[in-house]
Amino acid sequence: MAWTCGGLTNKELISNLVKNKIIASKAVEEAMNKVDRANYVPNLTTAYMDEPQTIGHGATISAPHMHAYAAEHLLPYLRPGAKVLDVGSGSGYLAAVFLHLVSPAGTVVGIEHISELTEWSIENLKKDGLSEALHSKNMQIITGDGRRGYPAEGPYDAIHVGAAAPIVPDVLVEQLASPGRMFIPVGTHTQNILHVDKDAAGNVTKEVIMGVRYVPLTDLSYYKS
Ligand code: SAH
Repeated sequence: MAWTCGGLTNKELISNLVKNKIIASKAVEEAMNKVDRANYVPNLTTAYMDEPQTIGHGATISAPHMHAYAAEHLLPYLRPGAKVLDVGSGSGYLAAVFLHLVSPAGTVVGIEHISELTEWSIENLKKDGLSEALHSKNMQIITGDGRRGYPAEGPYDAIHVGAAAPIVPDVLVEQLASPGRMFIPVGTHTQNILHVDKDAAGNVTKEVIMGVRYVPLTDLSYYKS
């Protein structure tokens, strides 16, 4: 179970996620092994625990099992060369995992509305060896309202939303490629992860995957108040 998945090292954490069948593919295992969670958390003593951690400004880095689920659920769309949008990119951790999955030639755009977190996540990504990707713009972290997406780089083969939206934002569905998949927590009191899939003909279907608890996808004022 998820809470038994922590480790003393990054390698041990990932290997426990594999043992517990939360990571199901070699591709996600390899990508998560390349991202050292210690580079994305303020509290190093619990860096390799399978639990969320506060990163300030009312935000949290999600638990590793949630990052693993997100990567596994989006995996069919994360081929090398693919374009990914990570809404509410927070610490930058999942953006880094996505970049390894779409490399070479893939691009990841993270969009985060708290500018301090944007700057901090860029430092985290640099510590984690991704300076070149930032320089070449294969990885971009933008400060902005993720509910509007980032049309300049779209359409996206995969969109991950890291905070719960009250409803699926139409603007994000518009920025999905055909085919493409969005992984998004939806709801206020009760929240569920939804797959929003767009097929090659542009038809959109939604499927409820699992119940979750995320911080809300909201206005900047919510966090600053
Ligand atoms: N995947 C990130 C999750 C961070 S928590 C990680 O594991 O590090 C969710 C993030 O969504 C927070 O950083 C929060 O600031 C951000 N967020 C909330 N509403 C937003 C919005 N409207 N636009 C952009 N980012 C938003």
